[in-house]
Amino acid sequence: MLEIEPLLLVVDDDRVTRLTITKVLTKAGYRVIDADDGLQAQQQIALHQPEMVLMDVMMPNMDGYSACREIRTRYDHQALPVLMLTGLNEMESIDKAFESGATDFITKPINWTLLTQRVRYALRTKAMGNALIRNQERLSQAQRIAKLGYWEIDILSGRVHCSDELYWVLGMETSTEVGELSSFLSLVVDEDRDEVESAIKIACESGGAFELEYRIRRADGEVITVQQQGQVNYSADGKAESLLGTVQDISERKAAEALIEYQAFYDSLTDLPNRRLFGDHLSHAISLAHQQHRQLAVLFVGLDRFKVVNDTLGHAAGDQLLCELAQRLKSLVRDGVTVARFGADVFAVLFEGLDAETDISSCASSMIEQMASTVTIREQEFFTSSSIGIAIFPHDGNSGEELLKAADTAMFRAKEMGGQQYQYFTADMNLKAQHRLKIEIELRKALERDEFQLFYQPQIDARTRRLVSMEALIRWNHPERGMISPLDFIPIAEESGLIVPIGEWVIRTACRQTMEWNRKYGLNLRVGVNLSGRQFTQPDLIEMVDDVLQKSGLPNHCLDLEVTESVAMDDIDSCIATLRQFKEMGIYSSMDDFGTGYSSLSYLQRMPLHTLKIDRAFVKDIGKNGENGEIARAIVAMAHSLGMNVIAEGVETEEQLQFLSAQGCDVIQGFYISKPLDVISFERGLKSLAA
Ligand code: C2E
Ligand code: MG
Ligand code: MG
Repeated sequence: MLEIEPLLLVVDDDRVTRLTITKVLTKAGYRVIDADDGLQAQQQIALHQPEMVLMDVMMPNMDGYSACREIRTRYDHQALPVLMLTGLNEMESIDKAFESGATDFITKPINWTLLTQRVRYALRTKAMGNALIRNQERLSQAQRIAKLGYWEIDILSGRVHCSDELYWVLGMETSTEVGELSSFLSLVVDEDRDEVESAIKIACESGGAFELEYRIRRADGEVITVQQQGQVNYSADGKAESLLGTVQDISERKAAEALIEYQAFYDSLTDLPNRRLFGDHLSHAISLAHQQHRQLAVLFVGLDRFKVVNDTLGHAAGDQLLCELAQRLKSLVRDGVTVARFGADVFAVLFEGLDAETDISSCASSMIEQMASTVTIREQEFFTSSSIGIAIFPHDGNSGEELLKAADTAMFRAKEMGGQQYQYFTADMNLKAQHRLKIEIELRKALERDEFQLFYQPQIDARTRRLVSMEALIRWNHPERGMISPLDFIPIAEESGLIVPIGEWVIRTACRQTMEWNRKYGLNLRVGVNLSGRQFTQPDLIEMVDDVLQKSGLPNHCLDLEVTESVAMDDIDSCIATLRQFKEMGIYSSMDDFGTGYSSLSYLQRMPLHTLKIDRAFVKDIGKNGENGEIARAIVAMAHSLGMNVIAEGVETEEQLQFLSAQGCDVIQGFYISKPLDVISFERGLKSLAA
């Protein structure tokens, strides 16, 4: 950077003095401008901003003192040094010069060597002063960013001095005099004051350092948390002189810490304790119950069909429902009973210190009753119900883990029984749960070990009685247990997610087999494949089906995908969208087990389905004890009015077949025609048809 020589202003009404000074200073390496009175000096300063002024005292228009005062008021700080040129040894004028704000003086007649020295030192002092101010400013700014201030107590007098930054942290005007230690202590909140006072006292007496966190009420009433570090300063002869304490506002950090802690132990949606906190409470309660030989109860409260709300109304509405139910549950129990959110749609309740009087059953019933009311979300009414599982300590488990598992198992059982009820845990449930687990483990291996097999059940045209299609039904050929019905393992596969790979295997195998038979026997058979809920919501379902059809070579219209009502109702809109895509691809779709679920006619109308399969329940009694098949008749009529075909399932007698075909039922499936057959038997049938 180019060094520019400092610019000086020389003010004197005597032209000769002015010129001489200018000459001397220019020679010494400065740039010089001049003015011949105080007024002109002001203009020069405004125009050129010199770094120093050399000023004569006696001048017309405005004398040196007034000019100096003017500079100080206008350009405030000491930043602009003013060197007064006074008469020799005129003490009075020297005093006056300093009073008007002069930095230094030099007596006339001027000693020229001294003048240059004085100027040089004045400029150097100014530079040092500037650097100091800059440092202080930076330090102060850094302290403000860190919300840090300090106080200092004079140990002898007890007087307190506070830094500007501390006033700022405290939200007080800088001029506010804290003065006494007691005034500072009065700002500390009541609960923390004694601790702060004694820490300061001990430090003053013992000369040690201390560190402390406490709360202060700011001038605006806000309470902040500060961190205090204190340390004693000693005089040269080793005497404790003062105690210096830094005070830092750490409220933001504290708030963040509190939030993190809250999130670790509470559910942010419902504000209830979370699983972790519940677990902590439970272990604590168990050790207490153990000591006092008392019982406690863990209840798992699961919402029935919560997924339906979530899927049909969206997650925001689902969240709102959860909050509403959490509040309700909380209001149902007395204080001291822990209610937590344990899973997405499961709450856990802990009843401690049970005695003979506590009636858990009636608590559970009233919970079920209260939770089973209608809630209104976005002007839509929802019927909610819940299922409760109950586990008792020490009867059902000795540890938290055992009790939680028992309550979960019991809740699962309550749901299995149709929901909206409570179940106590029983040892028998444990066996069932173990059995499930065992099946799940074995299911995982079954696919690799090729233990699955497809059976095919023929479906015939009701009028011509010719074979038109068949339904593929899975069997598990277990190495020890023999043939296992899908009813026993599909729900487990569904829950564990294993249904996805198993289901894909079913479609592949069924399509490949059907194509092979069609080709071999010149047929155009369609195969029905059951799709489970889990499979139906797979994002790549369409691609998977498309890929299977491509690879097997089976025409799209030869595949019929069966879904049940509950699958469709779980998420109606996306179900409709998926079915529509299948329809566009020319793939058939059927509503399986129709009449057993709870789908309404209005939904059915919107579903792009080809076929309704009347559930066996409406077929099995036809012809028995005067049962006239009214429901089956109505379903056939309704399906036809919606442009759908009808398949009757579970037809076991000629009478049923006659009746159903008289009603216009299109296709018949059931033991009367044939049981589901393994590949060899089915093919034997095809051969005989071809013969
Ligand atoms: P579904 O789809 O309604 O299948 C019809 C069930 O009724 C079959 O039982 C069949 O054997 C039985 N059935 C057929 N005709 C008669 C009859 O005249 N009388 C009686 N009493 N029963 C008859 P299955 O094979 O045990 O299958 C039971 C259920 O398991 C199926 O009901 C279906 O929901 C499910 N399932 C079977 N295979 C699969 C599969 O590959 N994937 C999926 N996701 N589910 C499957
Ligand atoms: Mg089926
Ligand atoms: Mg069925």
